[in-house]
Amino acid sequence: MLSARTTVSFPRIDAFLTDILESLAAHDMSVTAIGDSYVATCTFGAARLVAGPQRLAIEISAPTAPELNRVRYSITGLIGFVAKSEALQIVWEGDEVGRTFPPDLRLLTVQEIQRLTPRMRRVIFAGEDLARFDTREQMHTRLLFQPEDATRPEWPTLDDAGLISWPGGRQRLGSRVYTVRHVDVAAGQLRIDFFDHGGTGPGTRWLRRARPGDIVGAVGPAAHGPKPAPRVLLVGDETGLPGIARMLEDAAPETEGLALILVADGEDRQALRAPAGVEVRWLQRSHVAGDEPLSRAVHALDWRGAHDDLFVWVGCEFHDFRAIRRFVRDELKLPAARVVAFSHWRRGMSEEDIIAVGAHAVNA
Ligand SMILES: Cc1cc2nc3c(=O)[nH]c(=O)nc-3n(C[C@H](O)[C@H](O)[C@H](O)COP(=O)(O)OP(=O)(O)OC[C@H]3O[C@@H](n4cnc5c(N)ncnc54)[C@H](O)[C@@H]3O)c2cc1C
Repeated sequence: MLSARTTVSFPRIDAFLTDILESLAAHDMSVTAIGDSYVATCTFGAARLVAGPQRLAIEISAPTAPELNRVRYSITGLIGFVAKSEALQIVWEGDEVGRTFPPDLRLLTVQEIQRLTPRMRRVIFAGEDLARFDTREQMHTRLLFQPEDATRPEWPTLDDAGLISWPGGRQRLGSRVYTVRHVDVAAGQLRIDFFDHGGTGPGTRWLRRARPGDIVGAVGPAAHGPKPAPRVLLVGDETGLPGIARMLEDAAPETEGLALILVADGEDRQALRAPAGVEVRWLQRSHVAGDEPLSRAVHALDWRGAHDDLFVWVGCEFHDFRAIRRFVRDELKLPAARVVAFSHWRRGMSEEDIIAVGAHAVNA
């Protein structure tokens, strides 16, 4: 077993500890309080966090060198993002294993591109060793796009500082998060449904120039997926639609509930396979400034009665996400274990803008 440790000077640890633990729990890790420490475990290894006066001590361990660097990267990256304002210095001691290929990076080759609706494309990728994506618990992947002028693909490595080294000293590769719509491990196939929102970010640019034979990197899977429940409320826009479609297909036939899906207009609706007891309701975007149609629709539902059997999933633009998550958490008082809500994008901000601001750009 390999290990490393760090003690981070962290004057305002008390203000950030809960958010750090929540963020670890939302990204691959299962977090348990043991005595005065928190133990976070994931498929790569484990981390133990002990908060002291004005500092945070962390120990990590993993069976192999790539996995040690992957845990180191998760901890360094997530804490750095959550506590961006604190400009923390995280310096690791212990086993130094050099640069490693990320153990959760898979290479995917475009096989076919299908037009689902005017703005939605399904890309069918071929890839090897895709079993890690074949889980209902985690539905998301981060795709890494090669530079448009690349002559041969090059991929990042993880280093002993818990950072990504980008190939050839280049700027970081463009990358964006998507939902694994479907995976067939035996056939070596993975599908992603891309929404062309009309912008010029790296995800959309890649989509528009994608051709069979192109290669992307896929890291993950990550983040929480659905929890089995007799009753569901699934809320999303075009970016949440792939996740909702997958959850409806996978749901037990006796599942009841409602899927609220926001699209630009009627042409963007898709035929979805859903349990008979789940109503699929399509909403149309209004373009009225300040109007959050998904949140408005959620507030307008009949919320009388008990909600002990309800699971809520949300994936949409930040402002709708924030209003719905607050309602579900503060007014319905659903426990965190029965809510999975993510801001999938934020109006007027690219992912790079969001990273520059830190976690409060996407948290409710
Ligand atoms: C967990 C998760 C799962 C996701 N799953 C999917 C998925 O399966 N399919 C999918 O298509 N997307 C999905 N997304 C959303 C996708 O990652 C974002 O839309 C991303 O911003 C697209 O990157 P980009 O390079 O095109 O635009 P960016 O460079 O990030 O943004 C450029 C500009 O476009 C705007 N913009 C970004 N997204 C949208 C949008 N949807 N509508 C209107 N304007 C937008 C931004 O506000 C910004 O002004 C998911 C996101 C998350 C976090």
